[in-house]
Amino acid sequence: MDSAIRLRGLHKRYGDTVAVADLDLDIEAGEFFSMLGPSGSGKTTVLRCIAGFEQPTRGSVALFGTDVTALAPFARPVNTVFQDYALFPHLSVIANVEYGLRVAGVGRRERRARAEEALGQVRLAGFEDRRPHELSGGQRQRVALARAIVLRPQALLLDEPLGALDLKLREQMQVELKELQRELGITFVFVTHDQDEALTLSDRVAVFDAGEVVQLGTPRDVYDHPRNRFIASFVGSSTLLEPQVSAALGLGSQAMAVRPERVTLDAPGGVPGTIAEVIYTGPEHRIVVDLDGLGARITALEPNTGAQNSRSRGDRVTVSVEPAAAAPLEAEPDAA
Ligand code: ADP
Repeated sequence: MDSAIRLRGLHKRYGDTVAVADLDLDIEAGEFFSMLGPSGSGKTTVLRCIAGFEQPTRGSVALFGTDVTALAPFARPVNTVFQDYALFPHLSVIANVEYGLRVAGVGRRERRARAEEALGQVRLAGFEDRRPHELSGGQRQRVALARAIVLRPQALLLDEPLGALDLKLREQMQVELKELQRELGITFVFVTHDQDEALTLSDRVAVFDAGEVVQLGTPRDVYDHPRNRFIASFVGSSTLLEPQVSAALGLGSQAMAVRPERVTLDAPGGVPGTIAEVIYTGPEHRIVVDLDGLGARITALEPNTGAQNSRSRGDRVTVSVEPAAAAPLEAEPDAA
């Protein structure tokens, strides 16, 4: 079967800046796919090339088996939702949602019925006659979503759609987006710099660094087996162990990344050290340990069980890491 989205040798240069470097990528039908990376890593440029707002310097974009590289945005079976909503301020909610259908020449009655349906899908039934300024940020973003899905795209492209919302609302909208994607059964391509968001929502994640996909996999692959230092530190928090520290912990002789929740204190056979810091985060304590004689620190997480002062700065502990819990990192040629 053809991929929903197939990029081959996609390359985009702005002057001297290579925004996207020879990218091959396949996104499957019905997949929630995230492009995750720091600002400037090329995610938006890829999304805009898929949508047709940017023309690649070279390479191709195929959607559902058809090469669309030369097609205008409106001729592609995708729609985009932007962070800034881009609603028409003088139009009511329903008129905003109907707008694309009106442009496409869909008749009045059908337009209304489809717009009502889309508003129901984003849980905004009853808001038809409001103006954008009479809505909250989350509601405006839902109107923007309704406006995109009413056109029945085969794929929805989302460019940091929750970026303007505060944390609570963001978390709520994440759940709703996931539900919407399941309900519609279409491909979602989601751009974000927020690793929690990418891990929570996605079937697969592509991690971008400097115009390249440096890792591609399920959230679990990317989190449990980060391939290099950049990914280990960008996605979640982890302690990077130099080869001699890996060796002392019995993990082998390579540089490794270890997630703090996989580090155990005071198990038999651990490496001795002294607690340098105990950080209370609410649900857990982050415990930073200076390992004896290694000039290295490692962070452990322990759940907050409510017991008073279970650990303090200066306490002697031992540290162990299960070999399966440590991810070997690829040697980096330019790290020297
Ligand atoms: P991201 O979405 O990961 O933040 P972008 O795709 O927006 O990254 O940008 C990738 C690189 O391309 C950055 O260095 C950015 O400055 C550059 N870039 C993006 N758009 C333009 C443009 N229209 N003109 C010049 N440079 C651009």
